[in-house]
Amino acid sequence: MAAYQFFKQVNKNFDRAAASLTIEKGLLGQIKACNSTYHITFPLRKDDGSVEVIHGWRSAHSVHKMPTKGGIRYALEVNEDEVTALAALMTYKCAVVSVPFGGAKGGIRINPSKYSASEIERVTRRYTFELIKKNFLGPGVDVPAPDYGSSSREMAWILDTYQSMVDSLDSEGCVTGKPIEQGGISGRTEATGRGIYFGLKEACDNKKDMEAIGLTVGLEGKRVIVQGLGNVGYFAAHYLREAGAIITGVAEVHGGIFDDKGIDVGKLREHIRETGSIREYPEGRFIEESASVLEMECDILIPAALENQITAENAGRINAKIIGEGANGPTSSEADSILRERGVLVIPDIYLNAGGVTVSYFEWIKNLSHIRFGRMDRRYEENAMTRLLEAIEALTGEHFSEHDIKRIGKGPSEWDIVDSGLEDTMVTAYQMLRETARKYDTDLRNAAYISAIKKVAISYEQMGIFP
Ligand code: NAD
Repeated sequence: MAAYQFFKQVNKNFDRAAASLTIEKGLLGQIKACNSTYHITFPLRKDDGSVEVIHGWRSAHSVHKMPTKGGIRYALEVNEDEVTALAALMTYKCAVVSVPFGGAKGGIRINPSKYSASEIERVTRRYTFELIKKNFLGPGVDVPAPDYGSSSREMAWILDTYQSMVDSLDSEGCVTGKPIEQGGISGRTEATGRGIYFGLKEACDNKKDMEAIGLTVGLEGKRVIVQGLGNVGYFAAHYLREAGAIITGVAEVHGGIFDDKGIDVGKLREHIRETGSIREYPEGRFIEESASVLEMECDILIPAALENQITAENAGRINAKIIGEGANGPTSSEADSILRERGVLVIPDIYLNAGGVTVSYFEWIKNLSHIRFGRMDRRYEENAMTRLLEAIEALTGEHFSEHDIKRIGKGPSEWDIVDSGLEDTMVTAYQMLRETARKYDTDLRNAAYISAIKKVAISYEQMGIFP
């Protein structure tokens, strides 16, 4: 089978959108091209004394805004085409949600589950060192974050390596998704999944759109299937469940679970953590063929594992009314047109999983301003609200209960502020996409690309690069 050409797939979406725009061909070519890719190889001394050559990449797809931004993927499948495609998606994603970064992505070709923590640490630190040497990393240059196979642990190693080599007041802003104690921000771990929840809520709250696909309004009672119970899939499922949706299916690497009554995803995640697999979960029905779970009947299907999961081969058998793309590039462009013809509402990756980069943006601002959100004004707001409640009591003669005073008078924590910024970003962007889709009489993915290309084109034109 020919290798999957991910960047070509992204560019097919780009070309489809560009066809409805009157932007000069040369400028479109510049927006589409990947500005630079750095391929590194370096040796890893393994714990058993042997030496292995490690391959890593970092692509800066578009430097129309600086710094560039994008996660680092740790997986055996990582290759240059994949990193470039993911970097391009970052450019368009940041533009869709108006986060002022160019798009980048990194990848290290290892299967982290086969390496000890100290081996992964050595790989991460050496990768960071190589990027710093070529000026590919820094708060104003390129700022990585976690992606598939990496987490706050790796980000803390990147920060430490950067700070040991670069003397800069703003060094904390060289990477996001860090642990809170290392300059991270409340809500970043949950951000992508929580953003998916906000996006799906906005979609499901629209009466006209729900009627068009034969669904009732709201998330309550919606049956959801999730592929990949990692960072993105787990938090999306968790918040959807909290809002009354029923998680009927989970597809993981070693199989899937289906349960009409609903799956407790927290419990299932714990089971996977303890045993290393979804197998032998005591509840629901175990399904050996993981990919078949994607084809089971549901209202919302959330692919949250890897790219190219919904293809021309299985798109005709997808039995969902809505596809909420948690992963990057889960639907091939051929599958996308089949789904469109079948009337499935596809909420595209470059919008729906943008919660992660949105909260990364907040973290970067926090790092550059050297102050936690809410630190200056939380107590002030609490006191102002208490005085207001007292004035209302004095005027009306009514008394608020202790509970009400605590609830109404509470000043916002960092989490509250981040969450409100995330919700606002996801809701505003969804409305903008709907409006663009209406204006161009098209679907949400095409609307997202149209909107992104227009925004990047304006940046280039205003910089005077294309006078
Ligand atoms: P993760 O490593 O935390 O989790 C991925 C999960 O998918 C794992 O549980 C893994 O076992 C499972 N998986 C892998 N292959 C599978 C398969 N074929 N079938 C079923 N399950 C499979 O990764 P993540 O951070 O959750 O990222 C998932 C996707 O979301 C990726 O495409 C990533 O690029 C994208 N994404 C991540 C973020 C983020 O903030 N982490 C932000 C935006 C987009």
